[in-house]
Formats: sequence, structure tokens, C-alpha cells
Amino acid sequence: MRNEEGVLPVTTPPDTGSLIRRLHGLLKSNASVYRSMAQTVNIVSRQQWGAVPPKSRETLKGPAQKVIIHHTDLPRCKDQSECMKRLVSIQRGHMTDRGFDDIGYNFLAGEDGTVYEGRGWGVVGAHTKGNNHDSLGVAFMGNFQNDMPSTEAMSSVKQLLQTGVCDGFVCPKFALFGHRDLGNTDCPGEKLYAALSQLKCST
Ligand SMILES: [Zn+2]
Repeated sequence: MRNEEGVLPVTTPPDTGSLIRRLHGLLKSNASVYRSMAQTVNIVSRQQWGAVPPKSRETLKGPAQKVIIHHTDLPRCKDQSECMKRLVSIQRGHMTDRGFDDIGYNFLAGEDGTVYEGRGWGVVGAHTKGNNHDSLGVAFMGNFQNDMPSTEAMSSVKQLLQTGVCDGFVCPKFALFGHRDLGNTDCPGEKLYAALSQLKCST
């Protein structure tokens, strides 16, 4: 009966731990998973907010190396209808009074966390003199000298930047600046400037 030992079926239970780790690795290596996570940000297109066409448009030579954060230094707007009116007037101001080819920023964010397409991805902006050809300019709508933007606006812009990285419009190791780092201005306001690191990807 000693030979029973020899005929005992070797039933190795499946190593579920390692299976889960392997599955996790597969998911992590699948960029589209991150992409779909990042794309929860709601972007209102130019057509939707009633932008007029740009006078001209120049494409960035590659992914943006810098992300430059601004505030519009105008009263906040709290919902889409209010923000869309504000956008039309910002675009008019930039094109008529300041002689830009289009609204200056690549994207703008309202207090309810809606992001509005300005010039959009991969387009040279007019927001930070001497730095427009290698950057993405994002403006929070309002004045953030003494107040913070809403958590919705902060998290939307963070998601926007992640989307930009995933889609190849922003360099994964982008440098994050406030406008004041690169020009003689208070922009994007003291409170927002102090919170810029919150916009960086935490992973
Ligand atoms: Zn600025």
C-alpha cells in the first residue's frame, strides 16, 4: 500500500493570486483603459458654444512640452449657458480688441467642471508671450487671486491633461507652469497658483 503515495493525483490548486496579478498587468499595459478613464471630462466643442472660425491656425510641431495655467480674470461663470456667453465675449475681445487670430487659450474650464474647447489640441495659442509654440494654455474662468476654483473645475482640468497625454498632444513629462512663472502678470491668481501641483497626475 506504500505505492498509494505514488498514485496520489497531483492536484495543484490554481494560483489565483498570480492569475490576478497577471490580469492586472494586462489591464495596466492597456492604454485604452486609462484613456477611457481620462475621457470622463466633458468638453464642449467650439461649434457648441458658437465660436467664430479662426482667422488663421498654426499647428504645434509636436506634443506640448509645457502646460500653462491661466485665469480669465473675469467674473466666474457657474453653468454652461452663462459660460458660453462669456466665451463668445472672450473670443470677440481677443480677436477684435487684442488682434489675435482666435480665442487665445487652448481650453477653458467653468466652475461646474465643464471644459470648453478654445483653440483645442495641437494648436499654437496666444496666451503666454514667447511660450506659445511648445505649450498648451488652459484658463480657469474667473479670478482666483483670493478664491480657489471649484473642485469640479480642478478635477476636470486634471483629467483634461491626462487625456492630452494619453492622446499624444501633451508630453508625458510636461512641465506645469502658472502664467506668472513666464511673464510679468499675477495670472493665474495667488490661490490657484498655490494649488497648481494638484493638477499633476498623481500616479
Ligand atoms: Zn494668463
